Amino acid sequence: MATLHQISDRPAFAIMNGKTIPFEDAKVSIMAPGLTFAVTVFEGLRGYWQPDEEQLYVFRMEDHLKRQEFSMKIMELEDPPMGTDTAGEIIEVLRANKMYKDCYIRTQAYVDDWGDITATGPVTSSVVCRPRARIEAFLTGKDFVVVSWRRNADDASPPRIKVSANYLNSRLAGLEAKRSGSSAIILNRDGTVSEGPGGCIFLFRDGRLITPTINDGILESITRNTLITLATDLGIKVEERRVGRTELNLATEGFYCGTGQEITPINTVDGKPLGAGKPGPITRELQTAYDGLVRGHNKKYHHWLTPVWPVKTGEN
Ligand code: PMP
Repeated sequence: MATLHQISDRPAFAIMNGKTIPFEDAKVSIMAPGLTFAVTVFEGLRGYWQPDEEQLYVFRMEDHLKRQEFSMKIMELEDPPMGTDTAGEIIEVLRANKMYKDCYIRTQAYVDDWGDITATGPVTSSVVCRPRARIEAFLTGKDFVVVSWRRNADDASPPRIKVSANYLNSRLAGLEAKRSGSSAIILNRDGTVSEGPGGCIFLFRDGRLITPTINDGILESITRNTLITLATDLGIKVEERRVGRTELNLATEGFYCGTGQEITPINTVDGKPLGAGKPGPITRELQTAYDGLVRGHNKKYHHWLTPVWPVKTGEN
């Protein structure tokens, strides 16, 4: 039975191995390594509704698909069944579910059937979507705590790739933070800042935006890359470098970012306010720029948007 903690607005259709089927029929075998050992790679993408154009745009679809391929390569998954066209399936699943609002898409590839820990196939692929509005914390910000769990290391369970098994670490971090009504910041083995359970960290300190490097125990985040690009365009200096724990308290602004939460301002860390303890001006400037970009108002990055519905030509 669904509980209040679970997603209620389920879609009518999902795509499994290229076939559009009722969501309720998209099932996993109980002995599939994708379930028993979490040998599942996935992507989370957002679709943004643009009311003026009556268009839904999928944000940086090609980059997400590239990352999924990269995750598959590291996990040594065989190719999904012949004829699988994940890009086409994303468009198809959004159309089948008549998605005319902001939404979230999950693509996934996992080892199916019944195999051991080294099984590389058969691989089942799936694509699913659901409506997903912007989270409230985009406006209000959130409180964060540094949790006692350390980020899994690149030479143990590489955080660089998006594999379900990595989310054990994220879950432990998230549960610890939740007990104090906060969100988690996770340090790596070296004791420097890595990321949160499902997003990257940026701080603003002494006129510069700083963020941990991709070798500090983070996912190769697409939102992080987008924000580095946007900030540079806006003339904001960005430093990718190791970030010490104490800098979380020295920063005057900060935010947590990822496809799902977009840009969530960090109000406090361990009860200590960043700056005024509320979303700061640089964070707000980047939120505005990000929103403009994902909704198609920034022509420079229009190539990052894939339209879902036939593009209107302007003729009546
Ligand atoms: N880190 C982790 C652990 C994540 O799960 C996510 C969300 N995908 C991110 C960072 C942010 O990545 P992206 O910007 O590509 O969504």
